[in-house]
Amino acid sequence: MSCATCRPPTPAQAHCATCHRTFGGVTGFDAHRKDAACLDPAGFGYVERDGVWRTPMTDEARERLYGGVA
Ligand SMILES: [Zn+2]
Ligand SMILES: [Zn+2]
Repeated sequence: MSCATCRPPTPAQAHCATCHRTFGGVTGFDAHRKDAACLDPAGFGYVERDGVWRTPMTDEARERLYGGVA
């Protein structure tokens, strides 16, 4: 799925032609579609990196990233 105005997603990614968010996979895409509308992925814990919404980090990864930060 792609549209004229957005950066084309990679084959593994899924781009929403309604809200123009790009997801790292179809799981996130499916999760943000509810009753024929788009939900804010941040509302269920997704994070955006480089314009792509991805599944939340694992607790382990989060600890590595933020563990040493005051
Ligand atoms: Zn959408
Ligand atoms: Zn788009």
